[in-house]
Amino acid sequence: MSEIYDITIIGGGPAGMFAGFYSGLRGAKVQIIESLSQLGGQVSALYPEKYIHDVAGFMGIKATDLIDHLQKQVEQLPIDIRLNEIVTNLSQQKSDFEITTNRGNYQSKAVIVATGVGAFSPRRLAVEGADKLENKHVFYTIPDPERFRDKTVLIAGGGDSAIDTALMLEKVAKHVYLMHRRSQFRGMEHSVKLLERSTVELLTPYLLKQIELADDQLLLTMKEVKGEHLLQKQVDDVVVNYGFISNNKTIRQWDIQPEQQHRMFTVDRQMKTNVPLVYAIGDGVDYDGKLDLIATAFAEGPMAVSAIMKELYPDRRGPLHSTSMEL
Ligand SMILES: Cc1cc2nc3c(=O)[nH]c(=O)nc-3n(C[C@H](O)[C@H](O)[C@H](O)COP(=O)(O)OP(=O)(O)OC[C@H]3O[C@@H](n4cnc5c(N)ncnc54)[C@H](O)[C@@H]3O)c2cc1C
Repeated sequence: MSEIYDITIIGGGPAGMFAGFYSGLRGAKVQIIESLSQLGGQVSALYPEKYIHDVAGFMGIKATDLIDHLQKQVEQLPIDIRLNEIVTNLSQQKSDFEITTNRGNYQSKAVIVATGVGAFSPRRLAVEGADKLENKHVFYTIPDPERFRDKTVLIAGGGDSAIDTALMLEKVAKHVYLMHRRSQFRGMEHSVKLLERSTVELLTPYLLKQIELADDQLLLTMKEVKGEHLLQKQVDDVVVNYGFISNNKTIRQWDIQPEQQHRMFTVDRQMKTNVPLVYAIGDGVDYDGKLDLIATAFAEGPMAVSAIMKELYPDRRGPLHSTSMEL
């Protein structure tokens, strides 16, 4: 706990990412804490392949591309990004805040809560023993496709991300199975066509019932949905793409509880909550006329950051326009 941040942003969705960048632009010492292994919030987790048509400057941009641009922007500046960390408590320590996560404690002079619809986590396999194999043989995200080079991999799921994962791993893995509980895939038509032409072996309609580890290999037992047939496959790894769930439970357990209405943080026109130096932005806030849009989230970040910088450093005159700065 040696460093004290000026601003800690809780949540790495579009609101938190742009607020993080803007904090860095204003010379603040800033960190972004995100519960998932990736930035991008709902955009990355819920609709990565969709085109967004109402972000200024783009006729239409694929959701993943928008997050890639934001990430590159954030990476230009010395901003600490903490992934796989869920903020479990926010408390006051003398004049600073203490932010507690599943991995550690941090101190910060001000906080921007950008938690959107809640902390995302992957929907996990409901199979006994799968938790003990997590990140060893059972994966919910792909950190690096090379990890699966020359391996036999089973992907579980039937949506776009399951199909994309299968097609991506087909290029490096020895063999890829795609198991889905329905015979039809929910992915986009183009992706389903690519899948049909690929070497990916489809196992439908099956559900995983048992995983056994022996000699560093997994013996998987699958059961036919609405049938009795059992199928067994030996694989190296399983990648699960069952989507994400979000929850606000951890936020409700924080010591500091900014005022909320219908589980939305109440903020003033500068995005201030009723707790001094705690601000809130993005989908998790409510005010008269609030729109749950990326464009709105982008605007709320600079408002919160500018107000915080004025409170923390009243003598520092911040530039209003980025055109008067050199990056
Ligand atoms: C299907 C769909 C389509 C959409 N299409 C559009 C569109 O076309 N145009 C548009 O403008 N908007 C669209 N939206 C809305 C847009 O995605 C949201 O307005 C935007 O994602 C809000 O950003 P955010 O950063 O406030 O919240 P989120 O995107 O929800 O991000 C919040 C982040 O905070 C993290 N978090 C929460 N709690 C914690 C915690 N305790 N510790 C650590 N991390 C935490 C979460 O894991 C998450 O990553 C769409 C939404 C959906 C679901």
